[in-house]
Amino acid sequence: MEKLLFDSHAHINYEKYTDGERAAVMGRVESSPVAFVLDVGFDMASSRLAARDAAAWPWCYAAVGVHPHDADAFTAADLAELRQLLKAPKVVALGEIGLDYYRDLSPRDRQRDAFRKQIRLALETGVPITIHDRDSGGETIQILKEEGAFSDARKAAFPPDAPGAIGAPDARVLLHCFSGSAEQAFEYIGLGCTISVAGPVTFKNNKKTARVAAEIPLSRLLIETDAPYLTPEPLRGRPNEPVNVELVARKIAELRGISYEETAAATLANARRFFRI
Ligand SMILES: [Zn+2]
Repeated sequence: MEKLLFDSHAHINYEKYTDGERAAVMGRVESSPVAFVLDVGFDMASSRLAARDAAAWPWCYAAVGVHPHDADAFTAADLAELRQLLKAPKVVALGEIGLDYYRDLSPRDRQRDAFRKQIRLALETGVPITIHDRDSGGETIQILKEEGAFSDARKAAFPPDAPGAIGAPDARVLLHCFSGSAEQAFEYIGLGCTISVAGPVTFKNNKKTARVAAEIPLSRLLIETDAPYLTPEPLRGRPNEPVNVELVARKIAELRGISYEETAAATLANARRFFRI
């Protein structure tokens, strides 16, 4: 089996998996074209589990962080523990962090506070940041700007852009499961962001994400499942898994008018560069 896909955002650490279910999901990755999976933390327990998964499986890497939903419980001790977790060689990013004003599961001032503290940790440790942004009305990007996530010093810390990029320096900020317009995507790429597209790009009425996937520079595009959520067509309605990132890649290839192999190879190379794998 040729390994040519990178699932840049999945939750193998999903808290409702039994050990058997988690092992089955991992087994299917092993016998699939998926070369790498980033297992992304959303609270302290899932961050520890992601770090453990990454240590155990050669194809698994981890991001650690506290999601805005869990921001209310975020403590100074948690921040210190994240700093420790980031020292492991296969813990490669801070995330998913950000703001969620759609579900508002934590008070907004607590969301902002947890977000700012974790951005500062990412800048201090020099790791990529994976962003969750839902209905913040631009405040997520505003806070990233205020905290210096797009500063010249941050950009200078990373290698120069791949050929074909639109000229904006790379600040290693990934907008996970991007749901904005193509215009917004270009604006954020201009700041130094990279865009990650998930299963909704396969949904029939989702013209907005289809345009994003078709039009942004290929060098700034990553693909993901956000498994077990957001299952792509034609499997919608079932639980999602990292192996389904192939369906996202095939849809993007169709939208861009390039081959599936080219799409897979480019997004694999982009993700390896982004996470330094
Ligand atoms: Zn997620």
